[in-house]
Amino acid sequence: RANWSRAVAIVDEFREAFQTPMPLLKHVVDAMVAEMHAGLVREGGSKLTMLLSFVDSLPTGDEHGLYYALDLGGTNFRVLRLQLGGKNGRILNKEYQEVSIPPDLMIGSNEELFDFIAQRLGDFVAQEGEDYNPHGKIRELGFTFSFPVNQTSINSGHLLKWTKGFAIAETVGKDVVSELQTAMVRQGLQMRVAALVNDTVATLAGARYWNKDVMVAVILGTGTNACYVEHADSIPKWRSALPKSGDMVINMEWGNFWSNYLPKTQIDEALDKDSVNPGEQGFEKLFSGMYLGDIVRRALLKLAKEAALFGERVPSKLSLPFILRTPDVSAMHTDESSDLEETSRVLSSVFGIKSSSLQVRRLIVEVCEIVAERGARLAAAGIVGILRKIEGDCVANGVANGEVGKVNLANGELGKLIGNNKVNGRKTVVAIDGGLYEHYPKFRNCVDSTITELLGKDAAKDVIVQLFKDGSGIGAAFLAASHSLYR
Ligand code: ADP
Ligand code: MG
Repeated sequence: RANWSRAVAIVDEFREAFQTPMPLLKHVVDAMVAEMHAGLVREGGSKLTMLLSFVDSLPTGDEHGLYYALDLGGTNFRVLRLQLGGKNGRILNKEYQEVSIPPDLMIGSNEELFDFIAQRLGDFVAQEGEDYNPHGKIRELGFTFSFPVNQTSINSGHLLKWTKGFAIAETVGKDVVSELQTAMVRQGLQMRVAALVNDTVATLAGARYWNKDVMVAVILGTGTNACYVEHADSIPKWRSALPKSGDMVINMEWGNFWSNYLPKTQIDEALDKDSVNPGEQGFEKLFSGMYLGDIVRRALLKLAKEAALFGERVPSKLSLPFILRTPDVSAMHTDESSDLEETSRVLSSVFGIKSSSLQVRRLIVEVCEIVAERGARLAAAGIVGILRKIEGDCVANGVANGEVGKVNLANGELGKLIGNNKVNGRKTVVAIDGGLYEHYPKFRNCVDSTITELLGKDAAKDVIVQLFKDGSGIGAAFLAASHSLYR
């Protein structure tokens, strides 16, 4: 028999430990701003690495010509071709293909992997129909490579480490663009890699092609990351010549953000300790799709052990790491049926728990809500931190130029700050991509409403948060265009 009062007490403790009241979120916003500054000042200045993307010219919609993209980020890669027709024509033609990577290649040799990719890309190029026309120019490619890379120019960067199941020691430290280029030569494919970017930056570029007010892109998927458009002269750690545009996209690598204001529970500590990268990616571990499910599993395991929630015997599957996935959490959290059928189904199919009372299922749905809400609210605070960094700098510059009236930066009143700064009445758009945001409506709604709550209703009118799907491929093709030899 479940010890019901103990179970309720444990969930009360969770609610307390996972809570994210407004004052806490405001501290997180402040911490994000402070860490962004610190990471821009010098290499190693913050857990936020604030990597330079070398993207200094974002798509405008004027781009013309034939461009390719290659998106490598997980078990599949996608190839894409676009024929762009400028402001009026926009995307004249578009085709893509998804190729799964044989698992043995993910842990094989460097040459085999890149040969495979180049070969499949070559096959795709060979199928180019009459709707596409390179106009006698060398074909150009945007390469979305969503692994940590130390970028050295718009089209070169050295692999720092593989993640997500790839393990090919030879590649580490190598320039992934020249690896791809030499593989293309071996395959007899003539093509120039014009841009190397990660998925966050590609998403920003993809959204920017349609809307010049996009300043921030956030990935809320298996992992989480963000990038934004920074003034090149606000990056003290950058000592080279300033780009003509005056702007530089910064890949924050915000999954590794940390602040002591973040609510870290015993569950989070255990999850981190058991992970393959303890002490790293602290922000990501609080809410990205890879981890939300396991946080809930750990909470349920505690309820099973300490309150016999599922009977005297603790169901053994509850102890298996990552067996509960975030889509399952979403399914339970979103369960609207009167007897919580969907929750029964998940309990049965995932944990082999064949029967449970409605009362128990209600408690489980509440655990999902507690965990997901904390995550969504923290993600929102991170986004507002970026907005404030952007707006704060604008205000500071504006004041110096005498454009903006008195704004007291020290009063901490975010809403006012952002509201006052809107001298030109333009909106700031945040583009979000990723399965967590796209497919988990309660998570998405909570992110959106928390951003509004943090900004205040008035200032929130100047900020648009929008889902921008699949920007990681198309954005890279746009960037190949905006960094083309033939610009
Ligand atoms: P990636 O981040 O690997 O590029 P996606 O952006 O497609 O991939 O996101 C996939 C992730 O989104 C999954 O790992 C999962 O955590 C999350 N996800 C997918 N579907 C759902 C869902 N229905 N509810 C909640 N999360 C989901
Ligand atoms: Mg992705």
